[in-house]
This record gives sequence, structure tokens and C-alpha cells, in this order.
Amino acid sequence: MDVYGIIGNPVEHSLSPPMHEAAFREHGIDAKYVTFEADPDRIEEAFRGADALGIDGLTVTLPFKHDAFEFAEPDEQIRRVGAVNTIDFTENGPVGYNTDMTGTLRAFEHHDVNLKDTRAVVVGAGGAARALAFGFEDAGADVQIANRTASKAHDLADEVPGATGHGLEDLSDLMADADVVANATSVGLESDESVAPADAWHRDLVAFDAVYKPLETRFLTDAAAAGAQTIDGAWMLLFQGVGAFETWTGEDAPVETMNGALRSHL
Ligand code: NAP
Repeated sequence: MDVYGIIGNPVEHSLSPPMHEAAFREHGIDAKYVTFEADPDRIEEAFRGADALGIDGLTVTLPFKHDAFEFAEPDEQIRRVGAVNTIDFTENGPVGYNTDMTGTLRAFEHHDVNLKDTRAVVVGAGGAARALAFGFEDAGADVQIANRTASKAHDLADEVPGATGHGLEDLSDLMADADVVANATSVGLESDESVAPADAWHRDLVAFDAVYKPLETRFLTDAAAAGAQTIDGAWMLLFQGVGAFETWTGEDAPVETMNGALRSHL
């Protein structure tokens, strides 16, 4: 039997186990997907232990994505992001991927949104914002980053080719000229708040929210009310899992099955 899992702290409420187990079942793969709540002071030991135990692959979640980046050999594209959320323990050693980044792009493709030559505003400058900003830039978008702490937006923009950094006071003006606005802050997580001013939305925008608890955030309901297209955060979660499954197994993931399993637990 193959063994996969998610490593983080905390991980008890992770939605990855039902999503991956449904995919393994559908493909007739004899595998288990388990949760590992690692001690932050012993995370490197935990990664080495997983390798030594013959664990086949790990999803890495907070707060260990940077530790995973240092542990597993990341490919060139991911080196810029500085975070690994998927480890494949191969015969040649652990290899790191960032399927948060590639998964978000697949979520946009799934919704028939072509990011090439769009003006995309990323709100936030933390881990999720890094994945989105580099992903959007890779997809050919012109990226603007707005963050509560403007200096962090400027620092991230300095790393993303062509990007500009802003404070949140510029967000309305940025939205007026944008095609895509992505919330990569934690604003709206289990609260009825939005980082974006309600009156800044317009029908030509596509709204994406990384937050998926609740699924219908204030950010997305304000966007929908103005006629904008919306993509909820579960799509990012789904497609990072899809990317991990495909990396580990080399098979096309059963997207509908994984989506059903995920949404039935939300
Ligand atoms: P993080 O690294 O801690 O970054 C948090 C960001 O939120 C920072 O830019 C911070 O701004 C901003 N922020 C926090 N409170 C704010 C407030 N009251 N007003 C304005 N901005 C505020 O977190 P992260 O890992 O990037 O995660 C961000 C969100 O994305 C979380 O809700 C997480 O659950 C979600 N996420 C979802 C997925 C998915 O698969 N859907 C994947 C990853 C993350 P400052 O720099 O000014 O502090």
C-alpha cells in the first residue's frame, strides 16, 4: 500500500484526506492519505523521517511551506516562490512543487478565464499572494499588488517582473482598470468582511478569493452583486490537490470526484 499525507500544524480540520482518498478509490490505487501534525521545532526531522519511512508523498501546509522548500529540491519555476506545498519522495530524493501556484492557474482555466494580457490585482503580500503573483505573471498577466502593509507589497513587486506595489488606499483605483482581482489576505475568513470596497466592483471584473471558509465570502458576494464573475477559494484548494495527485501518480486526476468530496466536507 502507498502512503501519502498532509503535514502541518494544525492539520486536524484539513479537507485534503477526503479529497485524496476519493481520488485513490476512483482510480483503484491502494493508498492511504493521513494527517501528520508535526512539531515545528522538529520539522526537518519529520521530513527526513517521512522519507526514511518510505512515505510516497506529502502535502505541506502552514507553517511548513518554507521549511519544505529548504528540504526538497524545488524546480526552477518554484525557486522564485520560495514555498513548497507538495513533496514527491522519488528514487532520486525528495522533489518539491508548488501546486498552490499551478492549481490557481488551473482554477482560472477551468472557469474559462484566460489571464494572458489581463491586468490582475493581487490583494495581500503573504504566502498565498506570492503564489498568485508569480502564477499570474507566468500566465502573462500584468500584476499589481496591494497590501495593508504597503512596504511588503513593494518588496514582493520587486521580485515579480513588471509588477507594481501599492497600499490598500489605491485598491479602488486599481480595480477600476483591472480585469481580475484576487483576495490573498485572510480578510473574510470566518467573518463577513471584505478587503475590497463594495462600490469598486464592476461587471468587467473576475473576482477570485483564496479564502474558502465561508465559500461565499463578502468579497465574492459584493463582486457578484456588481455583475462580476466569481471563483471561490475551494477551486484553488481543489486544483492544488489535483496537481499533487497527478505529480505523485502520473495519472490524470478525477477532478469531478475530488471536487465532490471536497465540497461535501465544506
Ligand atoms: P499570510 O502569509 O499570513 O498573509 C496574510 C495576508 O493577509 C497579509 O498580506 C496581511 O497583510 C493580510 N491581512 C491580514 N489581516 C488583514 C486585515 N485585517 N486587513 C488587511 N489585510 C490583512 O497568510 P497566507 O498563507 O497568505 O493566507 C492568506 C489567506 O489565503 C488565508 O485565509 C488562507 O486560508 C488562504 N489560503 C487559501 C488557499 C486555498 O487553497 N484556497 C491556499 C493558501 C492560503 P499584512 O502584510 O499587512 O499583515
